[in-house]
This record gives sequence, structure tokens and C-alpha cells, in this order.
Amino acid sequence: MLMHCSISIQDPTGARPNTRYLNSCVLLKKVDDEFYLLVKNTMYPTAKSYELTMLQNIYHNFIREGKMELDFSEPRQLLLIVCKDKALLYLFFRKLKNIINGKDEMNDTRQAPRTVPPGHEIVNRFHPSSLFFVSYRHFDIRILNMRHLNTLVLEDCDLPTIPVQIGNLPISSLSITGSKLPTSQNELDVFWNFTSLSVICYTLRTLKMDSIGMKHLPFEIFFLKNLQTLSASNNNLSYIPHCIGELHALENLFVADNSLLYFPYTLSHRTFKEIDISNNPFELPRPLKFDHIAKYIEKYGNEMKNPLELTSLTHLALNNLLKYWLPFKRQDIPRSLWICFEVIGRCMLCRNWILPNNCRIAHTFALPSAENIIKDNKINGIPWQSLLCQNANKCERLAHS
Ligand SMILES: [Zn+2]
Repeated sequence: MLMHCSISIQDPTGARPNTRYLNSCVLLKKVDDEFYLLVKNTMYPTAKSYELTMLQNIYHNFIREGKMELDFSEPRQLLLIVCKDKALLYLFFRKLKNIINGKDEMNDTRQAPRTVPPGHEIVNRFHPSSLFFVSYRHFDIRILNMRHLNTLVLEDCDLPTIPVQIGNLPISSLSITGSKLPTSQNELDVFWNFTSLSVICYTLRTLKMDSIGMKHLPFEIFFLKNLQTLSASNNNLSYIPHCIGELHALENLFVADNSLLYFPYTLSHRTFKEIDISNNPFELPRPLKFDHIAKYIEKYGNEMKNPLELTSLTHLALNNLLKYWLPFKRQDIPRSLWICFEVIGRCMLCRNWILPNNCRIAHTFALPSAENIIKDNKINGIPWQSLLCQNANKCERLAHS
């Protein structure tokens, strides 16, 4: 993996800090099972190499601003790195961490140069029987002809839209990591429509959307019935909707470097294969009104007294949607219902769907159960948010019937 950036090399034992930043090229390399970081610039035209086993600390608190520091013990040097491409810097950081955690990742697609090598442009990259496609620029409409496409990598692309027809391809792995999503609300409203098509909602098993500046997980991804791996690291998520519990096959969840305060209780009984919850605040919001559910009640609490009672066609529609949990396009339901999918969840006792208007909220503390958990050292448990029917008698009656 290669990264262009500015680097200042400090001697921590020296009296005066070095303030000179040099345009540099940084490369991760594996030689005889040893990993090295190579730095090439005007000071080291033939590249200076650092053994990764000598890396004693990575300071990444300001990674979202495009800054990272690497602290090597031998040679005793501190590398201050500033990179304009923040998404790339983040990927570089994750790769470093994975190597340090013993996961040798040097053979993945990120090794490929970010531009298509000249030789590749001659062959037909859009061959209809290809199983694999990587683009680092933009979505090309010819992808839609690749009827056997299994893996689609659209990383660091300009992605104002993903054509809905992509949902007709049997894609099992999709990555939009580092890509630029639309900024206009109208475009965002239709962006995830492809997940409602009948092929992809069954075939997609891996969805990667790290570093795309996302504030909410779109509820449409919870229609991907066989999704096993969801990666949404380095975004601005402050919660994960309770609906995620409908993803029964989910076994790998990567949500590092977000602003998560708690997890939905519905995930607490599951044993993940791998989960990464590192670098999230994980504490109950105080006062609780900063919670997204509390905000919802504040806004809609008085308007919808008994939202799940069949008082109108709208609620009938909502009940049916929840009953069968079949994919739909958000434009096919009233806009007023969109918010419901952000906050709705199942009662932890009777498993009926409830909206925050008629539920009690409780929190418990525990660590997620996983074969491999990546977390901050100081974290011994995270808050789990559960929803319970407001009317306890009715709820227990249902639970026992
Ligand atoms: Zn209940």
C-alpha cells in the first residue's frame, strides 16, 4: 500500500523539534515475513525503512483531520504524518493496525495502484462473464452488463448514485469505502434503492462502507437478508438502529472510529465471529435527551399516541411492512414513516414491534460476545439499549400466550 503525504521526522530525545515537513511517499512492504514501512523523500531518496516490530505507538486521535503519528523505538524516531486524502490515511492506519494484530493483509485489492495500469485498459474490463470488478474513479454504466458479477469494489469513487439495476446482479461483496456519496437530500433518498431488488437482497454477504462520512446507517441495508459482514468504520455514527437485529446472518461487525454511545440490545445474544468497536465513546448520554430515541419522542411523542394500533391506513401499512420485513423503496412509503425505521425495535420480552412512544427504555452493560473482539483496553462493557412495552401486563400476557 502506497500513500503520498507530508512527513516530519522527529527525534524525541532532541532538544528542538523538527518543524520541517517533506513531501513523501510511504509504503508498506513485506520482506521474508517481516513488515517494513518505507519513507521516500528528498532527505531519503533511496527510502528509509522502519521495522514494524519496532513501532511502539500509533497516535491516531486526529486521524479525521488527516494527521497521524508513528512512534518507533528503534531508531528512536517519531514520524508526524499529514495526508490530504483522509480516507486513504485511515485505510493506511487500519492496515498498520491489522498487521500489528497479526492479520497479514498484504495481498488484498488495496495493494493495487489506485489508477488502472495501462495494460488493463486494453482488455475488456467489463466482460459480461467477469466475477470481479474494481473501480477507483466512478461508477461505469457498463458494470450493469456483468451478469455474473460477484465482487464489486467502488472505493474512493465519486458516487452520486448507484443505479438501482445493480440490485439485479448476484453481487455478494460490495465496497464503497472512501467514496464520495451524494450530498443532496434528493439523491440520498434514492441512493440505497438498489438493496430492494430481489437478487441482491439475497446475494449480498459483505458490505463495506468505511470512511464515507455517514451519520446514520440507512435502514434499507437491513433488508439484505444474508448479510454476514458489515463494515462501517470511521464514520459519524452515534447509534445503530434496533432493526439491525433483523440481520440474522450478521457475524462480523466493524464499527471502529465512530461516535457510538451504545448498542441495541437485540445484538446482545449473538456471538460474532469478529467485532471491532474500538475508538467509540460508549457511555450513556447524559442527559438522555441527546439520545436519538429521546429526540424522536420529543418531536413526535404527542402526534402519534398509539402508533401501532390500527387506527389508520398508514399504521396498517407499517404493521404489514414490519410483519413480513420485505424490501421496499423508501419512496413507496409515506415520508412520515421513514423516521420510524430509525427508532422502531422489538420489545425484549414479547418480541413485538414497538415505537418509542409506547415503550420503556432500559440499559444494561456487557461486552459483545465474539470469537475475536477488537476494543479499547479501558472498555470492560458497553451499554445495551433495550425497548420494553410500556404496558407491562399486556406485554407479559403476550409473552406467555
Ligand atoms: Zn413486550
